[in-house]
Amino acid sequence: MSNADLLKRSLAAVWHPCTQMKQHAHDLPLVPVVRGEGLWLYDADGRRYLDAISSWWVNLFGHCNPRINAALADQLGKLEHVILAGFTHEPVVQLSERLSALTDHGTGERLGHCFYASDGASATEIALKMSFHFWQNSGRPQKREFVALAGGYHGETVGALAVTDVAIFRDAYAPLIRAAHVVPSPDARLAEAGETAADVARRAAAALEAFLAANHERIAALIVEPLVQGAAGMAMHDPEYLRRARALCDRYAVHLICDEIAVGCGRTGTFFAHEQAGIQPDFLCLSKGISGGYLPLSVVLTTDAVYAAFYDDATVRGFLHSHSYTGNALACRAALATLDIFAADDVLARNQARGDRLETLLAPLAAHEKVRHFRRRGMILAFDVDADSGFGRRFYREALARELLLRPMGNTVYVMPPYILGDDDAAFVAAGAAAALEAALK
Ligand SMILES: *Cc1c(COP(=O)(O)O)cnc(C)c1O
Repeated sequence: MSNADLLKRSLAAVWHPCTQMKQHAHDLPLVPVVRGEGLWLYDADGRRYLDAISSWWVNLFGHCNPRINAALADQLGKLEHVILAGFTHEPVVQLSERLSALTDHGTGERLGHCFYASDGASATEIALKMSFHFWQNSGRPQKREFVALAGGYHGETVGALAVTDVAIFRDAYAPLIRAAHVVPSPDARLAEAGETAADVARRAAAALEAFLAANHERIAALIVEPLVQGAAGMAMHDPEYLRRARALCDRYAVHLICDEIAVGCGRTGTFFAHEQAGIQPDFLCLSKGISGGYLPLSVVLTTDAVYAAFYDDATVRGFLHSHSYTGNALACRAALATLDIFAADDVLARNQARGDRLETLLAPLAAHEKVRHFRRRGMILAFDVDADSGFGRRFYREALARELLLRPMGNTVYVMPPYILGDDDAAFVAAGAAAALEAALK
């Protein structure tokens, strides 16, 4: 089997995600991958690509990681999947216990109840439905609307699109959607002359306060991507926003949903992004990296108070939501193996040095005349490029030509590597990114 063969058959039979398929007929390369190992993806002709975006932000410890592979092989010999209604199993119990323990940030307050699904968008749907239903069960049915941030992204199913403020994903479906209220983003790039990131955060929080003061009676929840709004172009904000948002949600009896689907699992430097603000959400959504990038798994963690509002003799007061693969044993086992690696390898501490190294190597680009807002949070590095709208695609192609998978969003270039990036790999990424930038700007 050759690249050409796989390519032709894929274009004929596979409808690829987030893609105008016609572009593949012209100039956009479709990359056929036959094998992965560590940071590298290999095609059928032996070409290779360093996966510097963790395969859409999911891969944490490399492709075909021996430890995760071994855990899955072991699990395959025991149990692949079982219905989670009326049944339970060791991997889902262990994973719930361990994730809940990770949400205990020293105050003894933890998110002790885990509800599972498969994709990130499903986790968003679950958090929204749980919040809405909580207020129904609590005698405040008028609290049924949601607030989201400008540029926020929470998935692309119809319910998740309601709280997603990204025109290219949402506008075509606008008539299907019961759109949420959108408040200003604390995106630090919005700083005016003399303003710090914390000033922007306070300004955005003031707008949220004004909104909630006027509308809290009908608001169920605020949903945010803590610290980094991914799809908005790796828009980063000061933790001060989260502290203020938490306080406002408390004052106005509004749930805070932290969508950590992209920013959880160590991506921002701490295991959960919200830790950096010293807050606890009412709902925490995880997916993407949770299974190490192996299998679709998502989970919503919530509080005793939310759980208690559903715990009743009446069936209809329960949360009657399910997906066929809820709590899949293999996916949970991959997640447990992923958590084991975090503990065994002291990953968060070593990522600090990894991120520093990558930042140092990429830093010269900050001074490039076309580069704006060079920024970093943990293991996410990004910069914007002052160029025409075709830049992103040209950069993607030029990076591929240099054995590097980097896929800009609009004119934002970002690096979001697996947590196994060595010094030489970082140098490879930085050199490739710099060369691709020059080539794409020509
Ligand atoms: C990717 C993502 C989602 C959606 O997850 P899917 O698994 O793609 O449905 C939701 N929220 C955020 C912040 C994401 O990055």
